Amino acid sequence: MEGMSHYDYVLVGAGFFCAVLAERIANDLGKKVLLVEKRKHLGGNCYSAIDPITNIEYHAYGTHVFHTSNREVWEYLHRFTTFNHYYHQVLSTWNGKVYQMPINLETINSFYGLNLKPFEVPAFLKQELGKENYAEPANFEQQAINLVGRPLYEALLKGYTIKQWGRQPSEIPASVVKRLPFRHNYRESYFNDPFQGIPTDGYTRIFEKMLHSDNITLQLDTDFFDIRGEIDPRSTVIYSGAIDRLFDYKYGDLAYRSLSFEQEIMSVDDYQGTSVMNYANEEIPYTRIHEPKHLHPEREHIKGKTLVIKEFSVEANRENPYYPVGGAANQAIYQQYQRELAHHPTLIVGGRLGDYRYYDMHHVIAQALNLYQTQLKPKHA
Ligand SMILES: Cc1cc2nc3c(=O)[nH]c(=O)nc-3n(C[C@H](O)[C@H](O)[C@H](O)COP(=O)(O)OP(=O)(O)OC[C@H]3O[C@@H](n4cnc5c(N)ncnc54)[C@H](O)[C@@H]3O)c2cc1C
Repeated sequence: MEGMSHYDYVLVGAGFFCAVLAERIANDLGKKVLLVEKRKHLGGNCYSAIDPITNIEYHAYGTHVFHTSNREVWEYLHRFTTFNHYYHQVLSTWNGKVYQMPINLETINSFYGLNLKPFEVPAFLKQELGKENYAEPANFEQQAINLVGRPLYEALLKGYTIKQWGRQPSEIPASVVKRLPFRHNYRESYFNDPFQGIPTDGYTRIFEKMLHSDNITLQLDTDFFDIRGEIDPRSTVIYSGAIDRLFDYKYGDLAYRSLSFEQEIMSVDDYQGTSVMNYANEEIPYTRIHEPKHLHPEREHIKGKTLVIKEFSVEANRENPYYPVGGAANQAIYQQYQRELAHHPTLIVGGRLGDYRYYDMHHVIAQALNLYQTQLKPKHA
């Protein structure tokens, strides 16, 4: 990159965090932005593409369902896309039988061969929970047993969790269970948010529209650390990559999980009848099968073919961090990086990898809009 021109802002990573900021800075402030992305495509982990054989749009890094209760985020995104009416439902196969997830009344009744009514669930669970209960649950296993009892935990949560995290549930923080909804009724919708759907033209199209501006220079296939030395020191850098990488791992590596995917085209119209099927048995190597055709029920799809994608959870290396593992030891490392940031006033860090937090898309978009309104825009007022 000889003679790199001056940019007011250099943004690292073309996921939602930096894409929203690039859009706001370029279009609202009229400032010049360089956006660098090490992958060959836009969108970060939300990237969607069309399979050339079946013409089915799929999410290359796992099914992404947009959901939020934040009206500002929902309205902001509507500048770039409409959404279809897809409502997410998840099912889980255990010992060859299919159950609804999150665990609801249908799951309990079908698992125990009962026909409980919602008001009978607490008394039934009390019997089950009376057999084993933890006053101060110290980890995922104890917290999950407190919530649903050992039999349902062993069947639907244990094996899946071991595969997903590559750790025993007794080594995973209890707080992870708080993300699991549990219902005493037949409600099947995975999310509770009022605004949900899949972008009508896919996620990638949103990013293309957001970043279409004369003020934005986009450089794909470029690692920030390869061009860092050429950046004008007057530029503000906004970084959404891994925070441990940013400081050359000086306080140690943060633990992440990663995913790998195997695609296959099946010669049937519909392989599994739903977009995501979990596989709860530990001995089945994949965690889920995605069938992306179901994400776009409004589209005409070719008959006799469907795309299925198996998802495997793997330990991350420095090149492919996805999910922060978290826990006290990692948080302690993260805090050291966070303190280090205070010494770099022209460096802003955020997003899922920058903050080392599990964020959904709407969290990251809200974070970016908030950062823009409260910190960036006032500087130029
Ligand atoms: C399997 C899976 C399923 C998910 N499902 C949902 C869902 O259903 N609903 C939902 O709301 N959220 C979901 N999420 C979360 C969602 O993906 C994130 O909230 C969102 O992608 C975060 O955006 P981001 O910009 O922070 O990070 P990312 O999307 O990860 O973008 C960061 C970008 O930075 C780039 N980068 C990193 N380092 C460098 C470097 N040195 N130089 C240049 N570029 C760099 C990366 O390549 C990446 O493209 C899911 C996540 C996963 C992994």
